[in-house]
Amino acid sequence: MILDGKQVAAERREALKDEIRSSGLSPHLATVLVGDDPASRLYVRLKHEACGKVGIGSAGRILPADATTGDVVNVVRELNRDTEIDGILVQLPLPSQVETPRVLEAVDPGKDVDGFHPCNLGRLLTGSPVLVPATPLGIMTLLDHYRIPLAGRNAVVVGRSVDVGKPLAALLTAADATVTLCHSKTRDLASSTRGAEILVSATGRPRSITAPMVRKGAVVVDVGTGYLDGKLCGDVDFASVSAVASAVTPVPGGVGPMTIVSLLENTLRAARMRRCPPV
Ligand code: NAP
Repeated sequence: MILDGKQVAAERREALKDEIRSSGLSPHLATVLVGDDPASRLYVRLKHEACGKVGIGSAGRILPADATTGDVVNVVRELNRDTEIDGILVQLPLPSQVETPRVLEAVDPGKDVDGFHPCNLGRLLTGSPVLVPATPLGIMTLLDHYRIPLAGRNAVVVGRSVDVGKPLAALLTAADATVTLCHSKTRDLASSTRGAEILVSATGRPRSITAPMVRKGAVVVDVGTGYLDGKLCGDVDFASVSAVASAVTPVPGGVGPMTIVSLLENTLRAARMRRCPPV
């Protein structure tokens, strides 16, 4: 079975569009882009286009490649104060001279639609998530859509980044899976992955997950977006792994679209929290 993120994301976008229309809210997302990295520019453009499709307003702030930490923090603070803005997204990676943690910590946690503020990551770990990082959230939504059982199952996540691996491990743990988190120092990665009933790879190493590393019948989620011979390519060797796995996400068309729709859902959530606080 193909876990069709493109199709599921399209369905959720339609539902979100209706929800936004009937909410009477007009949520707004602000993006912050530093420098002129083509990939970052493309990702930001796609996010703005996605906002437009569901009725979320969006505006972009662009800073020069030599911006300082202070410059970026000042822009973030302006956006924090702007009452029209519900969500703030700082496009990563930032240039090396900018201290990323200081920038992420400057974002108002209530507008932190990427869920990277320590406050939001802490809430996730303590079991009361509010704004959850979009990629892990999208993966959980996709698994839920296909009714993949998680409770009691062995889940292996390869990659321990703050934006994907770690929050996903927390979400899978909260869903009662037994989680192993692997990384570049893991000894004998294949023996860990072979134990996985749910296997998620987020390393950015094209086709590094091959059929002998996958348990028969496993559900395999490919987060990776690397390039091989100039072509977008996931971490998973799709051709061989799909013969062993019971379900697998394609690249493109798997996790990517789910990430974007989750960002939009987070923006509506942030708008509701700010504009309709619980009484
Ligand atoms: P990252 O911050 O570079 O983290 C990569 C992780 O992979 C690290 O934890 C690293 O281990 C681990 N790793 C590297 N080599 C390994 C090896 N040989 N064996 C086991 N683990 C290894 O990357 P990221 O931000 O998590 O992104 C990972 C990939 O997902 C990238 O291709 C990125 O473009 C893609 N991505 C896609 C989406 C989407 O929406 N589709 C969203 C986010 C990211 P150490 O911690 O030990 O260094």
